[in-house]
Amino acid sequence: MQILLVNPPIYDFTCYDYWLKPLGLLYVASFLRKNGIGFDFFDFMDRRSPFLEKKNKSKFLSTGKFRKEDAAKKDIFAWFKRPYFRYGVSKEKFLEFISNKSYDFLFITSMMTYWYEGIEEVIETVKDKNPDVKTIVGGVYAKLLPEHAKNLGCNFVFSGNVEELYQFLKDNTDIYVKKSFKLEELIPSYDLYKDLESAAVLTQVGCPYRCTYCAVPILNNTFYSLPFENILKQLDLLESLNVKDVTFYDDALLFKKEKHFLPLFEKIIEKNYSFRFNFSNGLHTRFIEKDVVDIFKKLNLGMLSLSIESVSKDILTKTGNKINLDEIERALNLLLKNGFDGRKIFCYILVGLPDERIEDVIDTARYLKEKRVRIVLNEFTPVPKTELYDRYKKIITDPLLTNKSVFSSYYKYSEEELQNLKNLVRSFNWETKRYYERV
Ligand code: SF4
Repeated sequence: MQILLVNPPIYDFTCYDYWLKPLGLLYVASFLRKNGIGFDFFDFMDRRSPFLEKKNKSKFLSTGKFRKEDAAKKDIFAWFKRPYFRYGVSKEKFLEFISNKSYDFLFITSMMTYWYEGIEEVIETVKDKNPDVKTIVGGVYAKLLPEHAKNLGCNFVFSGNVEELYQFLKDNTDIYVKKSFKLEELIPSYDLYKDLESAAVLTQVGCPYRCTYCAVPILNNTFYSLPFENILKQLDLLESLNVKDVTFYDDALLFKKEKHFLPLFEKIIEKNYSFRFNFSNGLHTRFIEKDVVDIFKKLNLGMLSLSIESVSKDILTKTGNKINLDEIERALNLLLKNGFDGRKIFCYILVGLPDERIEDVIDTARYLKEKRVRIVLNEFTPVPKTELYDRYKKIITDPLLTNKSVFSSYYKYSEEELQNLKNLVRSFNWETKRYYERV
């Protein structure tokens, strides 16, 4: 039985490697190994892949640019003037990798629903050489748009999580699996990479909140923590692989911090790992208190991010009330009073929410500029199955239209307005940088 696991290339207007790792696929690899099943692995989005002729140098905190090439836009984007790219290892190198091999099963993972062209490409390429190969697509796109995935030519759409993979394979394939495993019994197979600079770790699954624009609670309708022992084993593996930067993919890392974050990170600190720690999934300002700040101070901290979204009370309330203005103010003041460098505090703002005015975004950016922290604009896009998606589903005739670079221009702001916003934020961040260089 020959199996190939693939993280596909990305088609988009823009794409940058902020610790993008196919964590779900690495869990699947771990599951297969535990069942004694061999496989090949190919990650198009590995910036240090041996299949890249030229590797782009890493920038700050092991982030960096992906290899890219021009890509043809589908007709649906004809009105949108920006150039379109295919990111990742070339198709030619992938063909070299699969030449002389024949596969029975192709497992492909997926992330954004508007990145499905990469999956399409991989299926076509592998099927061309292996017409009988059976394809299984899993991951975010498969879970949110299973019908669309079927129409792409996938034989099976796996919309469960890795704990349900055993039953899925038994019911749908002739792959012999001996045993099911819980997530806590698996360690993502990062050792599949020959040269690993950064990695992502998950310590809790799901999120207890229900924000109107977010698919996390739909992707995991549960919220639980992994045992500390399992998390430390994951970190031990990353240390043995000489990883420089670790980030956490958790969506509610600080929730009930007395039971999870605080004792877990005390243990992590005791282990004295050599990597930098990054918190790239926005943390809840509500839970940033002295005890959390004290942990951050003891860590070799690369960056931390806060989900600010907006300083408009109306928007915060309408989108789910996950934080309020007092909490934002208190958290920022606490971090800054404790000597944190504002350039390391990434504050995410959402742009393009329904009912939002462009002035709301500008006010939020101005507020953060006064605090001297780093501002990051995140363009809102409706994610299938979320509450806000319903408002737009009539105009979304193709998932490509939910591309984050496109959607706001498609229905809300002009390209010029968006560019002005981006320029404003760039100038604010520049002022903050200059400020810290002077002090
Ligand atoms: S936006 Fe954050 S807090 Fe809200 S549901 Fe999603 S992950 Fe949870």
